[in-house]
Amino acid sequence: MTHADLVIKGGKIALLDGSLVDADIAISGETISGLGTGFEADETIDARGLVVLPGVVDGHVHMMDPGYTSREDFITGTTAAAYGGTTTVIEHHRTNPQVFDWKELERKRQYLEGRSLVDFALKGGISRDNLKELRQMWDHGITAFKMFTCHLHNADAIHVGLQQFVFAEVAAMNGTVLIHAEDDAIVSANEEALKAAGRKDYMTHYEARSELAETLAIQQALLMAERTGARVVFAHVSTPENLSIIRQARARGVKAYAETCPHYFYLSTETLRAKGPWVKFAPPVKPPGTQERMWDAMARGLVDIISSDHCPFEKENKEKGLDDMWAGAMGIPGVETSLRLMLTGVFEGKIHMGTLISCMSTNPARLYGLYPRKGSLAVGSDADLVLVDMNASETLANEDVKSKCGWTPYEGTVVHGIPLTTIVRGKVVVRDREVIGKPGFGRFVPRGSRWGTIV
Ligand SMILES: [Zn+2]
Repeated sequence: MTHADLVIKGGKIALLDGSLVDADIAISGETISGLGTGFEADETIDARGLVVLPGVVDGHVHMMDPGYTSREDFITGTTAAAYGGTTTVIEHHRTNPQVFDWKELERKRQYLEGRSLVDFALKGGISRDNLKELRQMWDHGITAFKMFTCHLHNADAIHVGLQQFVFAEVAAMNGTVLIHAEDDAIVSANEEALKAAGRKDYMTHYEARSELAETLAIQQALLMAERTGARVVFAHVSTPENLSIIRQARARGVKAYAETCPHYFYLSTETLRAKGPWVKFAPPVKPPGTQERMWDAMARGLVDIISSDHCPFEKENKEKGLDDMWAGAMGIPGVETSLRLMLTGVFEGKIHMGTLISCMSTNPARLYGLYPRKGSLAVGSDADLVLVDMNASETLANEDVKSKCGWTPYEGTVVHGIPLTTIVRGKVVVRDREVIGKPGFGRFVPRGSRWGTIV
């Protein structure tokens, strides 16, 4: 018998093709040391009746720390992540100060080392004047650069003029840009017209940030990526049509990938009409029917990555939008609900488990250079696992929220498929839905030696 530190016994391992295989998982130290049967260990976790997945790699979170810690901090944010079955978060640059050079990146990394329950990677930002800083941030192990095509959240809009230089620089280092794609001119013009008409109702958010704004920004960035050879990932793509546009570009050789988020599968303009600022995020929700077509698109393989875009706000800052939608804060929490919501799609037969694992774990790990250390259940990979009960259900409720914000846009939504136990590098951080991990256990994971492709 092979001896291990921990054995996950009696569960079904989910494979990328969607099949479930009976196998025990042996863990020695921080890595997976065996798959099969006949392991003996100091500790055993009974996984009978459960499905074992590689831990979620959430490629898009805003934990707001340092700087905006009344909204979230890295301890509460990664507590929520662990609870949701996420074992690695990729944190963005929009903290205070923002991360636009390697020195700030290093400061942030050191600061966060003591504040995370799960492993974390970082992104660097693109501003209007940090072109010369990009290379050093990349060399310090970031997973990608984040760029906005529109003014939002105090971020610089990078218009096409500067985009051409940025993309050329990124292409030269074989780097990756994650793009928030909404055309600045269209959104501004719509906003101006709506405000001039005295509108401040909930639907202004949908009308201002039109689908055309997203499509145009994607088309322009695709052309720029094609001309420069830069690798681009489009963040939170909100329609099946735009997913198709990105996939068609990839078919002709553009290095273009699509991320989307659970909210585009669950929330619609009807939700917006009813809940207003509580479902204010960008790009906005889409009309009823689009959500089902997003599931179809995902089942057909048009989605590369599912991320949460966790961007929590205090209730007070959302409530400001109740009487004037323009005043409501832009962003929603999601890191603890994303796996639950997507597992529900598996439970309902809309996608299969292999597609979920690809989009939520393996693909982000591959694209961002964390594979095979992350996003894999192979021998030698980090023992990052989540044990899921596909027969369990829950009604999502504000009172159960782990994020500091204390609310969820999915209050009252019934989910099927619940992450019970989360293991990070061989250590149980959530046991039967109870978070027992400690801040400081989570480590920075730099981009490895391979990145930029998915299979
Ligand atoms: Zn974001």
